[in-house]
Amino acid sequence: MTDSPRSQSTGPYDLAANESPFAPLPGVLEAVRDMSLELNRYPDPACTELRAVLGRELRVPAERVAVGAGSVALIRDLLAEYATGPDGEVVFAWRCYEGYRAAVRLVGAVPVPVPLRADRHDLAAMAGAVTERTRLVVVCNPNNPTGTVVGRTELARFIDGVPEHVLVVVDEAYRDFAAGPDAPDAVGTEGHRPNVVVVRTFSKAYGLAGLRVGYAVAHEPVAAALRARALPYAVSAAAQRAAMVSLREREALDRRVAGLVRRRTLLVDGLRAAGLRVLDSHTNFVWLGLGEHTGAFADACREAGVRVKAFPGEGARITVGEQEAVERVIAVASRLP
Ligand code: PMP
Repeated sequence: MTDSPRSQSTGPYDLAANESPFAPLPGVLEAVRDMSLELNRYPDPACTELRAVLGRELRVPAERVAVGAGSVALIRDLLAEYATGPDGEVVFAWRCYEGYRAAVRLVGAVPVPVPLRADRHDLAAMAGAVTERTRLVVVCNPNNPTGTVVGRTELARFIDGVPEHVLVVVDEAYRDFAAGPDAPDAVGTEGHRPNVVVVRTFSKAYGLAGLRVGYAVAHEPVAAALRARALPYAVSAAAQRAAMVSLREREALDRRVAGLVRRRTLLVDGLRAAGLRVLDSHTNFVWLGLGEHTGAFADACREAGVRVKAFPGEGARITVGEQEAVERVIAVASRLP
């Protein structure tokens, strides 16, 4: 499990975007090289083979799967399909993944952000924010940027209380980094409900952020609506092929995830040893609620050659990236006054 040589040789380490630090799997590289001989051809617009593979893997019919150019494209399409106009209220936690707010704006929906409570989803407040104008509720699980999870029982109870006309979108971009009985798996636990859509991505644990491919699992009419909305040929042939190879090479990816989780423990322990309060993380990043000290911490990291994501006045999000970068962040933290 070696870090990508390129990311070590070009400028500062980038721990700001929750990317994988690893070079592509050999099988993925080979598949993409093969595809490069067919760049004159359009890809399969229906992503038929990838949807079939995902369907088998997840034990759902391929008709319930939609593939998109990154999960953010699927989220945007869900909003465009179900939540446009003045009655299109979309409830989501805040702070959360910034793509929701951007996509809500893009389609002209109405954002209804509900503040986190102690860095976690406040599900009671989110349920209370649902009105007859609510079209969608998004639950980011685990949450970006705090790394917290909504447990399975809590999620089920929350969805029970949401009216059936409201679509609940569960975004599991980081699920592979969570373990234990509350590790998110809404396809298995909540997928039977007609108003639940689960969105996942190949950008994080699978390390394919640059290729742009994600998928949604939903009830058939919703999945069909998503497929109908997709731009023709949006998902490149290389992305489709790389995603299929990655699903086949699950064991190699699992080893990488396990390595990152060990590195995450090193980072969390190092930050705690430096006297900082760090929440347990269920993702490939760690949240530091530094408040007014956030800017100074991010600046000190930059001086040490590492970019972290600063949310001014709130905190910093640090991707569990290259070993050397993680060690530099720990060193910065231990020098804090
Ligand atoms: N959901 C969450 C929670 C994310 O953090 C991200 C990317 N940072 C995405 C979705 C979008 O990922 P992609 O479009 O690369 O699949």
